[in-house]
Amino acid sequence: TMNQSNRMLLPDGTSLPRIGQGTWNMGDDASRREEEITALRLGVELGINLIDTAEMYGDGRSELLVGEAITGIRDQVFLVSKVYPQNAGNERLIRSCEESLKRLNTDHLDLYLLHWRGDIPLEETVLGMEKLISQGKIARWGVSNFDIDDMKELLKLAEGTHCATNQILYHLGSRGIETELLPWQRSHKIPVMAYSPLAQAGSLRKGVIESEVVQEIASAHQATPLQIMLAWTVREEDVISIPKASSRKHVIENAAAGLITLSKDEIWKLDEAFPIPSWKVPLDMI
Ligand code: NDP
Repeated sequence: TMNQSNRMLLPDGTSLPRIGQGTWNMGDDASRREEEITALRLGVELGINLIDTAEMYGDGRSELLVGEAITGIRDQVFLVSKVYPQNAGNERLIRSCEESLKRLNTDHLDLYLLHWRGDIPLEETVLGMEKLISQGKIARWGVSNFDIDDMKELLKLAEGTHCATNQILYHLGSRGIETELLPWQRSHKIPVMAYSPLAQAGSLRKGVIESEVVQEIASAHQATPLQIMLAWTVREEDVISIPKASSRKHVIENAAAGLITLSKDEIWKLDEAFPIPSWKVPLDMI
């Protein structure tokens, strides 16, 4: 089969790598700091130049680390952060964003996400996000952990259609979004950003890496089972996947996984081994 492109287009025409870099838990362990920064910078060099963080991660420590990692290369990075639901309205939203910008040592985010749905009315969050855009502090906004009913509610709002993505849990061992949410997002041209695409190196769902089918496909591609899991999440062109890797070796493998094209037969075998649920299940999250 032909190699797929390792990039995709947002509906607004922005070109993004299909594989980016997560940073949850980065910056928590001082002894790993240098290695984590090196890994993120290497990733940018290798073209996986979308970096995902959040004000929540390590109470700002992840953003501080990312800020350090992107020093001098800010313009090469598509920078994503997230606001706590309890901060996602009015002045608190503006302040949260400004504090994230300070920690990230930058003047704008490329994408700002509502981390999950809370009690603040969606209208208020959307208004605030639009205000942040007009102030030049963010280029676009989106949501995270929204199930289909939340998405439908969001798109009923006048500016709800500006939502650039929904970042949700998606890996070979958790395919619930494929029943309704993913097809719905596809029909509304809202790309999925897949988090925990490696099922946290298998620990969220036992048996995926060990599966005979995954192992066989991995050896056919001279790849690791985790690279196959990652390539699988981005097999369609409207999914972005953000694995977290804190070593050079893992970053190199993840960047390379963006160039693995699974054949129809391989995808079919994976469907058989890890079927889509037969009915709608609540959105999986962590
Ligand atoms: P992942 O599925 O990305 O798994 C991360 C684990 O996989 C780490 O232990 C990492 O080890 C290991 N790993 C990475 N690459 C490889 C490789 N090539 N071979 C072997 N092991 C590898 O889990 P996360 O939960 O971190 O999800 C990714 C990102 O998604 C987060 O970091 C965060 O940015 C985002 N996220 C968002 C959520 C939300 O609510 N919006 C919720 C959860 C995650 P090592 O670090 O040692 O390289």
